[in-house]
Amino acid sequence: MAELDRLLRFTHPPPFDGEAALRAEVRAFLRARADDWAPVDRARSWIGFDRAFSKAVGAKGWIGMTWPKPYGHGRTQVERYIVVEEMLSAGAPVAAHWIADRQSGPLIISRGTDRQKETILPGVVRGETTFCIGMSEPESGSDLASVRSRATSVDGGWRLNGRKIWSTNAHLSDFMIALFRTGPADAETRHGGLTQFIVDLRASGIEIREIKDLTGEHHFNEILFDDVFVPDEMLLGRPGDGWTQVTAELAHERSGPERYLSAFPALAQAVREAGGDAASARTAGEMIVEYATLRAMSLSVAGMLDEGRDVAQQAAVVKDVGTTLEQDTPAAVRRLAPAPSDALAEMLTYTTCAAPTFSIRGGTRQIMRGIIARGLGVR
Ligand SMILES: Cc1cc2nc3c(=O)[nH]c(=O)nc-3n(C[C@H](O)[C@H](O)[C@H](O)COP(=O)(O)OP(=O)(O)OC[C@H]3O[C@@H](n4cnc5c(N)ncnc54)[C@H](O)[C@@H]3O)c2cc1C
Repeated sequence: MAELDRLLRFTHPPPFDGEAALRAEVRAFLRARADDWAPVDRARSWIGFDRAFSKAVGAKGWIGMTWPKPYGHGRTQVERYIVVEEMLSAGAPVAAHWIADRQSGPLIISRGTDRQKETILPGVVRGETTFCIGMSEPESGSDLASVRSRATSVDGGWRLNGRKIWSTNAHLSDFMIALFRTGPADAETRHGGLTQFIVDLRASGIEIREIKDLTGEHHFNEILFDDVFVPDEMLLGRPGDGWTQVTAELAHERSGPERYLSAFPALAQAVREAGGDAASARTAGEMIVEYATLRAMSLSVAGMLDEGRDVAQQAAVVKDVGTTLEQDTPAAVRRLAPAPSDALAEMLTYTTCAAPTFSIRGGTRQIMRGIIARGLGVR
């Protein structure tokens, strides 16, 4: 079946000469800092927000790696993949730079004005300027086209009113790329009338309210917009193009190694603590087989991005299978280390509580399966 062949065709990037040297460089960089991170910090890698660390990453040239010069470093997706994979498997605190590196920056590169690129991207590449994502609203998550927050055209710019929710680390960020309604949705697709803005989170009229998650931590936020003025030059792309832009942004959000490595630091610690019995060896072997398969699939997506291919389908497959593996990992950790050290117990508690979110953030499992079904032509 042609659709199945296209969907399941995960081609592999050719061997890359500098891979061993790049990995060695990233590992040495991480080793020099690893003593600063408690085991539970490594389990929290995704939401670990550390501006000093991000500046050090920027100084190495590892933010904006794939963006063209002069804004970025003109390197390949596979090179970026290697850096991100090393960071996440070591449990490094990536949250202060990686939303901008992964999706906000690429969106500004492809849709932004020269002025936006010149004024915003240098700070991002240095690890100094941080972004958060403003898509979801209280009544609009999976059905993002139904957003109701509204931007109204005024002299010299736009007035924003409404609210966004679940914005990760908005309280620590400088900017949000936010999706607002600027016109009516067209009757057929419902995708018209949406526009993205680069919003300076210090603007007057913005209130950021904390939301605590299951672990008691504050990384989620609700953001209220009360007549917030955004100048014309901070409109991103073209008015009414928001749906196409947000879809491209989500493809970036779903395609990286972060979609299978969230629980990996706890697994690595459990393997270190596991006994030498046959049952532990079998569990470790089963997990390695699964992680190795996901790694090959995820690396393949990076290679296909380098070839300029549309990877929305493959990214949805990696995210669905990858988050299933991440959610199975806490049980494997318990089997491997039934009497965990205090450090592993803390990592396991955190990972167990965070695991339900893995298949929700960035689009739910059901939405990924809908995308796959559409790719197969059965929906
Ligand atoms: C850890 C985490 C971080 C996040 N960070 C951000 C962020 O920084 N910025 C941001 O904007 N958002 C963020 N989100 C929000 C996230 O994108 C949404 O939670 C997600 O898209 C689901 O939307 P919802 O919560 O409104 O659930 P709903 O869309 O209401 O879904 C509820 C249930 O219904 C199912 N469902 C919905 N529609 C369909 C359908 N058509 N077919 C089958 N099943 C369906 C869903 O799969 C789900 O199981 C984050 C979420 C999490 C968990």
